[in-house]
Amino acid sequence: MSAGGSPLPAVHLVLDDPGVKALEASYGRAETVQAVREALEALRAQGLRADVGETAQLAQRHLEQRHRPKVRRVFNLTGTVLHTNLGRAPLPAEAVAAATLAMTGPVALEFDLENGRRGDRDDLVADWLCRLTGAEAATVVNNNAAAVLLMLNSLAARREVVVSRGELVEIGGAFRIPEVMNRAQCRLREVGTTNRTHRRDYEEAIGPKTGALMKVHTSNYAIVGFAGVPTEGELAKLAHERDLPFLVDLGAGSLVALERYGLPHEPTPRESLEAGADLVSFSGDKLLGGPQAGIVVGRRVLIDRLKKNPLKRALRLDKVRLAALEAVLRLYADPDRLAERLPSLRLLTRSAADIEAQGRRVRPPILAAVGGRARVALEPCKSQIGSGALPTDLLESWAVVLRPPEGEKRPGRWTEAFAAAWRGLAVPVVGRIADDALWLDLRCLDDEAAFLAQLGDLG
Ligand SMILES: *Cc1c(COP(=O)(O)O)cnc(C)c1O
Repeated sequence: MSAGGSPLPAVHLVLDDPGVKALEASYGRAETVQAVREALEALRAQGLRADVGETAQLAQRHLEQRHRPKVRRVFNLTGTVLHTNLGRAPLPAEAVAAATLAMTGPVALEFDLENGRRGDRDDLVADWLCRLTGAEAATVVNNNAAAVLLMLNSLAARREVVVSRGELVEIGGAFRIPEVMNRAQCRLREVGTTNRTHRRDYEEAIGPKTGALMKVHTSNYAIVGFAGVPTEGELAKLAHERDLPFLVDLGAGSLVALERYGLPHEPTPRESLEAGADLVSFSGDKLLGGPQAGIVVGRRVLIDRLKKNPLKRALRLDKVRLAALEAVLRLYADPDRLAERLPSLRLLTRSAADIEAQGRRVRPPILAAVGGRARVALEPCKSQIGSGALPTDLLESWAVVLRPPEGEKRPGRWTEAFAAAWRGLAVPVVGRIADDALWLDLRCLDDEAAFLAQLGDLG
């Protein structure tokens, strides 16, 4: 391609090129014609001239770029295991198989195979959810935000819902308890103060307009120091004395006691139900380790009201995720093997020694690949559970830390550019930038061979 005024080839001449015929075979006629037109327009706009072969190459680049899948695998070396922006929990093989089955053919989704009548899609997972939480009944929707919306709208529309001021949380920007209340047509009745709310604060707020008491698990922050709220048991007792439902938005919600696996304790739906909660909601893709879903468990009469709400239909879970969720729940039946079989729990329970050993393996090839362009160290660090599990409880881990060469004038800019180079790899590597260094936390590095294989491309 060169500058100058000579004419460009006609579209039909480019389309006759054997290379372009090959493009047509893989991308189809319409896409190929359009790409050739775009290539010619681009050349014309820049005042360049080109022959048929050069135009064909440009058209090919256009096609490759447009058809590159946007859902791309990445290496999550951020140190946050359940990273919302990277898709949260990786699913176990059992769930992938079940989802594939549901995607590729008809399944008994809302169909009772015993009597041939219409069934209820919630029944695919409700038994497991009840067994694992001790609940009477369960329902599932698109995500936990939807679950909260459905609980509030079904049980307390046009009424007041009493919540502690210390629990008016925002999760990831778009989900804020006060706004969800509005959309659910409930009136938020805030009580107490940011750091302390007493039983009598709730008590004094209850009146003829009250529809429910609610507790929101403050999952992505902690109020420490002179702080406190009544226990779930106290709130449940108060609610029931006044004939009100007590709702709990648990957020992360683990189905097992995590301390069994050496992790910090996270509240379980079973604990909330045992304390007297009438309904508890939690996410499917946080600590549970399954697909995106919102789960509500609790008293049957209330679950039935949620299921009768027309919003339930708008928020319902699709067959693919239902299939995956069922497969994940089945793994919970054997807690002894859960940490081996559930990928999210396997990553969360990886020992620091194991991660350090991996660091000793991967540091030399990384050092070789970056040459003199960075200082490369293996250092201890802390991983986070992520997705709103206790931010103050951090997991011991190890990271390959890449620092600018000694004397670099603009270490901040250097680090940004270096991080971009890692993200530019065929399977992008996403690390964490802190203290003018790029930290690659190895906790979630599962496919070490694939990681090492592309290091040579680090331009
Ligand atoms: C994460 C979270 C939500 C939202 O759940 P999604 O599954 O992301 O929709 C709501 N409430 C709490 C307390 C949470 O931690």
